[in-house]
Amino acid sequence: MQKKFLFFFLFILFYQAANAWGFWAHQRINRIAVFLLPTEMISFYKENIDFITEHAVDPDKRRYAIADEAPRHYIDLDHYCVLPCDSMPHRWKDAIDKYSEDTLKSYGIVPWHIQLMMFRLTDAFKVKDKNRILRTSAEIGHYIADSNVPLHTTENYNGQLTNQIGIHGFWESRIPELFAEDYDYFIGKAEFVTKPTERIWKTVLESHTALDTVLSFEKKLSQTFPSDRMYAFDTRGVVSSKMYSQEYTSAYSKMMDGMVERRMRSSIKMVADIWFTCWVNAGSPDLGKTEAKELPVEEQQQNETEEKAWKEKKKQYGHYHPETGTEGVK
Ligand SMILES: [Zn+2]
Repeated sequence: MQKKFLFFFLFILFYQAANAWGFWAHQRINRIAVFLLPTEMISFYKENIDFITEHAVDPDKRRYAIADEAPRHYIDLDHYCVLPCDSMPHRWKDAIDKYSEDTLKSYGIVPWHIQLMMFRLTDAFKVKDKNRILRTSAEIGHYIADSNVPLHTTENYNGQLTNQIGIHGFWESRIPELFAEDYDYFIGKAEFVTKPTERIWKTVLESHTALDTVLSFEKKLSQTFPSDRMYAFDTRGVVSSKMYSQEYTSAYSKMMDGMVERRMRSSIKMVADIWFTCWVNAGSPDLGKTEAKELPVEEQQQNETEEKAWKEKKKQYGHYHPETGTEGVK
C-alpha cells in the first residue's frame, strides 16, 4: 500500500513537471556553445567552462526565491496573436504601450529579458568584470535556450488544455536525456548578430510555429500506441518514478523527425552568437585582462537566499530529478 502511494506521488510529480529544457540539456547547451567561440574568446570561456555549465540552471533555481523570475522564461504568444503574429510589438516600450507592463509580466517576457541580459553582458565586458561576465553569460544561455522551446510560447505549456499533461518534461527532458548524446553538434562558428531584437523574435516565432507539431503528433501517437507500453519505471535507490518508456519516447522523437535536435542546435548557435555579439559591442576587450571583482554584499546575500530556497525545495521532494523537480512552472 505504502509503495503504491509512493508511486502515485511520484507519478503526480512527474506529471506536474514542466521545467525549462531539462537541467541536463541546459548545461549541455552552454557547454557546447563555448566551442563555437572565436580565438579571442575561447580560452577564457574554456578555462571557466565548468562554471558556465553548472550555472546554466541558476535561473530555474531562482524561481523558488523570486516571484518575478518565472515570466522571464516564456511568452504565451497565443494569448496575443495567431501566427505569423505580425501584430506583436518587438520593442519592450511599444509592447508596454500596447498591452501594459502587468499584462506582459502575466504572460511572460522571455524575448525582452534576453535583450536586457544582452545589455548587462555587454556592460560586464566593458568593465572587464570576470565574475559578472561569467554569471551573465551562463544565465543568458538559459533564457536563450528557453526561447527555443515550443512549449515556452504557449498557455498550454504542459498540455493541460489538451489532455496531454506531462508533455513539457517529455519533450525537453526525457527526449534529450535519452537521445541527445547522439545528436550532431558540429554547428560552425559564432557569428555577429546585427539585429539582435529581430533574431530573438525570429527564434521565438520559430518555436511557436513548431508547437502544433509538438502537440498534435503526441496526441496522434498516444491514440495508436499500446497503452501498456507507454510508461516505464525508473528505480533509483528505494525510489521509483513513472516515466514515458524508451519505446514511446523513441516513437515520438522519430515522428518529429529531429525537431528536438534542431532546437538544441539552434539554442547552442544562438548562445554563442549572442555572447560573441556582446563582446564585439563592448569593443572586443582582451579577456586575458579581466578582473575577478568581489560581488557586492547584497548580491552575495541574494545568491545565498536563492541557493537556500532551492535546497529547501529539494529536501521537500527528496528524490530530485530534472523532470520532477518543479511544480508545474514553465
Ligand atoms: Zn527556464
